[in-house]
Amino acid sequence: MISKIIAEDKVIKAKNLIYDAEKIAIIAHAGPDGDAMGSSLALYHFLYSINKEATVVYPDRFPSFLAWMQGSDKALIHSEQPEAVKTLLSEVDLILCVDFNEPSRVGNLKDLLINAKADKVLIDHHPEPSTDIWKVAISYPQIASSSEIVFRLICRIGHAAEINKYCAECIYTGMMTDTGGFTYNSNNTEIYYIIGELIRKGINKDEIYSKVFNTYTADRMRLMGYLLANKMRIFPEYKTALIVLSKAEQEQFNFQRGDSEGFVNLPLSIEGIIFTVFFREDTDKVKISLRSQGTFNVNEVASKHFNGGGHVNASGGESYLSLEETENLFERILPEYKDLLNK
Ligand code: 5GP
Ligand code: MN
Repeated sequence: MISKIIAEDKVIKAKNLIYDAEKIAIIAHAGPDGDAMGSSLALYHFLYSINKEATVVYPDRFPSFLAWMQGSDKALIHSEQPEAVKTLLSEVDLILCVDFNEPSRVGNLKDLLINAKADKVLIDHHPEPSTDIWKVAISYPQIASSSEIVFRLICRIGHAAEINKYCAECIYTGMMTDTGGFTYNSNNTEIYYIIGELIRKGINKDEIYSKVFNTYTADRMRLMGYLLANKMRIFPEYKTALIVLSKAEQEQFNFQRGDSEGFVNLPLSIEGIIFTVFFREDTDKVKISLRSQGTFNVNEVASKHFNGGGHVNASGGESYLSLEETENLFERILPEYKDLLNK
């Protein structure tokens, strides 16, 4: 048995909303990652198993290394099928929002989501969720992944038996990717109890690891080698590393969506480095990823300086300055954190 983390009144409210709905949309954040896809697709498989009509919506396309996930081919991609998404959101009676804590995280879908008449339920683990649009907010930042919350919710509403193999695979994928393959944020023993249950449902956890982490292209490996050899800057007095990837370099290495996934974590394996940052130049912005080890709170850096947010050890954001100006800004703000980084 696992502890009852989700409050009973929230379980009952979510259960009633799901039981009463006929048509349900499930929305995850832009730039869907393993947990966004895991939690949304797990709910999709579960809802079908209790005879609900469910559709997953992503603001934009997911990376190809997650395309093997069952049900992903049925999802609607708002950037590619805006009219279909608009129609869907006007027809559903319930919207389940997973793995994000504020409407701006769904990009251009934001207004459609906010204005949809359907009741909205939040299922998420990011700190400080916005409070205004949810009928029920199932928000537990102490849980390592939204996919784990989905597992807990399905069990609490009495449907553990309806978690089939596909649903279990999706839950496992999200739990695995949001903990870096159970290498951080993963000391809660209940995680391993849940994994046991998922294996009993028929998942092959070793195969899932391989599908997610061992399917890179040669170009991606070469880009990684290039960045580590030529672009990784170390700031020893701040225990910090920075890697910057320009548009030109992306073209040089035939960059595909998702290719830079995990790059931000690499310098954390250098002894003494506790804060790492990765900048990727995009068409109209610079996408920023931040990671840390220990108590240094990158969520604070992301929200204060980079229009973003996330968790204590893993956050992201955006800059609307040029790549070079963003790098200069970063060097200017680092001294602000010198004491915290050397604590
Ligand atoms: P990643 O670096 O893998 O893109 O994101 C790491 C974490 O930061 C994720 O939990 C994600 O939800 C959060 N995050 C990434 N980008 C943004 C952003 O632009 N805004 C906010 N609020 N959070 C972000
Ligand atoms: Mn997550």
